[in-house]
Amino acid sequence: MAFKLIDLPYDDTALEPAVSAKTLSFHHGKHHNAYVTKMNDAIEGTEHADAALEDVIAAARGSNQGLFNNAAQSWNHGFYWHSMSGTETEASADLAAKIDEAFGSMDELKSQLKARGAGHFASGWVWLAEKDGKLSIEETHDGDTLADSGFNPLLTIDVWEHAYYLDHQNARPSYLDAVVDGKLNFAFASENLARGSTWTYPR
Ligand code: MN
Repeated sequence: MAFKLIDLPYDDTALEPAVSAKTLSFHHGKHHNAYVTKMNDAIEGTEHADAALEDVIAAARGSNQGLFNNAAQSWNHGFYWHSMSGTETEASADLAAKIDEAFGSMDELKSQLKARGAGHFASGWVWLAEKDGKLSIEETHDGDTLADSGFNPLLTIDVWEHAYYLDHQNARPSYLDAVVDGKLNFAFASENLARGSTWTYPR
């Protein structure tokens, strides 16, 4: 059974002005759709055809770069849509305590997410992640992912140009300011932390 392009968990205007409906129409409808379609074409009739996406990613890592890129990007984008919300949602008490422990404050976490995202060279992803009960900010390059890593990813931000160019042109820091200050889904991060295992891309 093929993987589907998962629906956006909000109306396509919900993230404006940080991320416009026009950006979402291309980013979700064209970019994410293309990753899912290419992945489905690559796994059809293979031993991966009915596997979980996280297992496809792990199996392809290091052995089938084309499949890995499309599978990891399919996962990353599904996770990214859920990492944002029309208005910022609240961190659970447990997540809030772990943010204070790791970063000192929510404001400092936000400041570091912006700095790491702005400083990431070329295309990639910036993550809030948990490992052994401790939070950290991680970066992955190009289509790489934390989906099959030792980290439990809590939130991610896409820093590829296609995520912001229509709205912010080349000003990645402007995009990061707009997303980090008001559009992050800390309730989703809290669910991921409480589950204690990696989010799964729905079939
Ligand atoms: Mn993207």
